[in-house]
Amino acid sequence: MPTRVDAPCQPGEVVLAPEIRQEARRLHQAIAAIDYVLPGTLSRRVVRCGRMGCRCHGDPPQLHGPYWWWTRKVDKKTVTRLLSDEQVADYQQWFENAHRLRALVSELEALGLRAVAADPRSLRRPGGRKPASPG
Ligand SMILES: [Zn+2]
Repeated sequence: MPTRVDAPCQPGEVVLAPEIRQEARRLHQAIAAIDYVLPGTLSRRVVRCGRMGCRCHGDPPQLHGPYWWWTRKVDKKTVTRLLSDEQVADYQQWFENAHRLRALVSELEALGLRAVAADPRSLRRPGGRKPASPG
């Protein structure tokens, strides 16, 4: 039995199975090891400018760039900023950290779901029947 409670009718401390606590500890340490994060995505794109007669409107077109584009949402609007190669060298790890953090939080959520699914109180419903599909 992975989870034990003091008594079904009294709020007791949930005692988690050793493997769940161990996995949580691993995830907490991995999250704690992340220093900085940046939201949004980084992409490398070429662009066409607004000046007519520019080489980017020629045949064949010679587009500008490529440039580093940092795109993110701010108040439900997409905000884009250009970053220099030097900035990307400094900040690229922060985007990767954000990706890693999201993955770790998803793992932590899955672990929480496992803990709740293993909680004997989760099996009870009005009428005393087990839920059709746990989880
Ligand atoms: Zn142009």
